[in-house]
Amino acid sequence: MLFSHDTEHSLACAVELVNSAPRGANDEGLPDLNALREFVVRHDVSEVGRLSGADLQAVQDLREAIRPVFSAPDDRTAAAVVNTLVSQAGVTPRLTDHDGYDWHIHYFTPGASLADHLAIDCGMALAHVVASGEHERLRRCEAPDCEQVLVDLSRNRSKRYCDARTCGNRLHVAAYRERQRAAQ
Ligand SMILES: [Zn+2]
Ligand SMILES: [Zn+2]
Repeated sequence: MLFSHDTEHSLACAVELVNSAPRGANDEGLPDLNALREFVVRHDVSEVGRLSGADLQAVQDLREAIRPVFSAPDDRTAAAVVNTLVSQAGVTPRLTDHDGYDWHIHYFTPGASLADHLAIDCGMALAHVVASGEHERLRRCEAPDCEQVLVDLSRNRSKRYCDARTCGNRLHVAAYRERQRAAQ
């Protein structure tokens, strides 16, 4: 494992969050409160209270604050994105062993809104990646027409495509290039 379990968990959360935004052929992945609640359960986000329409809007907006870290050309740009993210919300680092999990650090302030909680969780995980000199592992999918982002956790940094069914498919990519050529 490259990073701690918590960090990798939060990185997966950041990737799914950014990729839920409507873009190109993708529909809105978080269209309503039910979808938001499912997201919270899927990513095991703790201490989440009642969610409102304002929470949904704030989480949808948060995605565009996280996205630029995946296309940052250098460490300094990535650091600026991360710093903006983690300075938006209060941070209260503390050790916790809730719900049977071993001791780990929570950074979000108790009682934080879901968007603030996610901004801190994702921001701190991304901060660890940049601080480890691994910022290049934060990427955009290289498949044509795909705007999804990914974290490359492979040993040899070989991950090029997001996890969408078609993206890693050579035939799909070749067919697309052929269509582009034909259209010119
Ligand atoms: Zn926890
Ligand atoms: Zn893709």
